[in-house]
Amino acid sequence: MDGDLLVSHAHTAAIMRGATGYLKIDLTALGRNYRKLLSMLAPVRAGAVVKADAYGLGAERVAKTLYGQGCRHFFVAQFVEAVRLRPALAQDAQIFVLNGLQPGSEIACAEMGVVPVLNSLAQWRQWSAAAGALKRCLPAVLQFDTGMSRLGFPPEERAELAAALRDGGNVEILFIMSHLASADEGDGKQNGEQLAEMAGIAEEFPGLDISFANSGGVFLGGAYHGVLARPGIALYGGAPNAGEKNPMEPVVSLNVAVVQTRTVPSGTKVSYGGAYVAQREMRLATIAAGYADGLPRSLGDRGAVFYRGVRLPIVGRVSMDSITIDISVLPENTLTLGSLVEVLGPHQTLEDIARDADTISYEILTGLGDRYHRQYR
Ligand SMILES: *Cc1c(COP(=O)(O)O)cnc(C)c1O
Repeated sequence: MDGDLLVSHAHTAAIMRGATGYLKIDLTALGRNYRKLLSMLAPVRAGAVVKADAYGLGAERVAKTLYGQGCRHFFVAQFVEAVRLRPALAQDAQIFVLNGLQPGSEIACAEMGVVPVLNSLAQWRQWSAAAGALKRCLPAVLQFDTGMSRLGFPPEERAELAAALRDGGNVEILFIMSHLASADEGDGKQNGEQLAEMAGIAEEFPGLDISFANSGGVFLGGAYHGVLARPGIALYGGAPNAGEKNPMEPVVSLNVAVVQTRTVPSGTKVSYGGAYVAQREMRLATIAAGYADGLPRSLGDRGAVFYRGVRLPIVGRVSMDSITIDISVLPENTLTLGSLVEVLGPHQTLEDIARDADTISYEILTGLGDRYHRQYR
């Protein structure tokens, strides 16, 4: 055991020595973001959406941190994620599978104590049958489609579902839920439409608690809060409202090392395809992260990194493992082999890089690769 620990420390030290990217994940900031949402929701409770490895930050670390803050409801997308996370959490933590119940997984799901979100009559029947086979009552959540046409009971299945619920079916409904399509747009007309649809559903299925709000929904006001919110991105420091000042604290920072520098004369081609041609003498640095590390190819000739607040534009195409940046504005020898530049941090937010890459913060976070040295605080 001690031997293993030593090997693992030596291993970590070796990785750190050779690391060319440092991803810092601030679990104390995560905890503060959770408490901030709680204070906005009180007395409504907040679960946490930890799908896709907690948006790339590490589901186990994130879930344990939030459990320590009182969170007891954890949402993943796929059953495999629930299987991985279940042993890490105490028994009073519940794990919900948003994508629903896959045929063949019913007994494993029941035995692991994982709660499926049932999205259709077919899934309801499967779960009810599993309960019958196991001769016990099984818990479930019902998701209704209120306007995304993605997941959840469609309107035409509601009457039959209501009848099935009256018969019992050995299934205990913990709560009902739906998901907002435009919650990040505070003035979005669709929010009100979905809220009205959900109010109608609540009348058809009386006496059941409601979970409705994602991160954006928390900021839409009390009408959207139900009894249990399901924030994801806001916990991880992403902006819950498009185009507004981000009220959340950053959780992630990323610094990447310079692996080579050079000075090139005017007319020199840079990166694949010779797509960028230097228009003057330039000083360039190549940094050790590329699209395989989650920095999208769409950042080519558009995005930037920072060094002590100075913007260093990306020049040419993004490679799989590297990116070339223009460091001409810095005094010579400021950046040398091993110097770190900021990709995400005080000068460049998730939203900044997402905008330059023509995507959203969610895609940047979930794409962050596993070659970075991860430091949890
Ligand atoms: C991903 C997801 C969430 C969390 O959304 P955020 O915008 O990240 O807060 C909540 N509910 C459902 C059903 C989801 O799929």
